[in-house]
Amino acid sequence: MQLPREVIVGKGTLQRIPEVMQRLGLEGSALIVTGKKSNKIAGKHVRQLLEANGVSVDIVQVDTASIKDVTAIEEVIKAKKPNVLFGVGGGTKIDAAKLSSAGRGIPYISVPTALSHDGIASPLASVKGLGKPYSIMVQAPLAIIADTNVIARAPWRSAISGCGDVISKFTAVKDWQMAQADKNEYYGEYAASLALMSARLVMRNANLIQRGDEEGLRILLEALISCGVAMSIAGSSRPCSGSEHLFSHALDQMGKCNAMHGEQCGVGSIMAAYLQGINWRRMRATLRQVKAPINARQLGVKDGEAVTALEMAAKIRPDRYTILHKLNLSREACERVARNTGVID
Ligand SMILES: [Zn+2]
Repeated sequence: MQLPREVIVGKGTLQRIPEVMQRLGLEGSALIVTGKKSNKIAGKHVRQLLEANGVSVDIVQVDTASIKDVTAIEEVIKAKKPNVLFGVGGGTKIDAAKLSSAGRGIPYISVPTALSHDGIASPLASVKGLGKPYSIMVQAPLAIIADTNVIARAPWRSAISGCGDVISKFTAVKDWQMAQADKNEYYGEYAASLALMSARLVMRNANLIQRGDEEGLRILLEALISCGVAMSIAGSSRPCSGSEHLFSHALDQMGKCNAMHGEQCGVGSIMAAYLQGINWRRMRATLRQVKAPINARQLGVKDGEAVTALEMAAKIRPDRYTILHKLNLSREACERVARNTGVID
């Protein structure tokens, strides 16, 4: 079980990076992996703070977390030999840092600039070019430093996506419980409880989160970090990813949807919850409250495409038993589910 050693959340926490480095015994050199925007918002600042404390710093800017990007970062690590990597940005920058640092056997520190999904704290990463649409196990961050002053500047849509990703833990955990009952799969109650608690907290505080102030952002941030820790405890994405994630991966694979990960998972979780017999109406109401998409139109896909994604979902990952594998729905049944939950008209 790999867990972060330090999690620092709050206003102005970037300032504490040098102090965290010292406590973790990291000095000498660091490499910052970031994007163009994230560099302006936070990367440059992190560099100044480190350099002011005698750390030599290099920066690599990436757009995606493709094999090509990751290999390029690994080459920089080989040449510069940094003691630690910083992933500064939204999901993809952190994924790129996570993968390349693990590839070269050095630790990484997660500095999220947006709350779009739980990858900001998880030991898993998704890579483009591996032929797998879902995340793979990599390594947990050594530390997470989340500055709510920085995060508050991200587009609100990323927080909406983060809410969708957290709400989807209701159906992910339900799938996991079913896999234990039907297939005798390992089930970790502690990890499952942590993921569920995060989903409940976001549901209960949807109103507060929707206001977008410090208190709401902090609740969402802590929920996303807890989900990441739940995956570290479970040693897999099981507590946080079930049939609703497979629906999202299917949409990605079809290449027809430009919505964000958590937005897709949120809509997937409405249909998964309906099939699982849990309170899908309440989940949908929460998504609606934070202004997350609740149907195909709001995701920007045609009704038929949403049905196809639901039909394809189980085939994306045959090894991950979910309600979709259990029911093995026909296209007509998928269409009924989508219609009955209001996902299609
Ligand atoms: Zn997710």
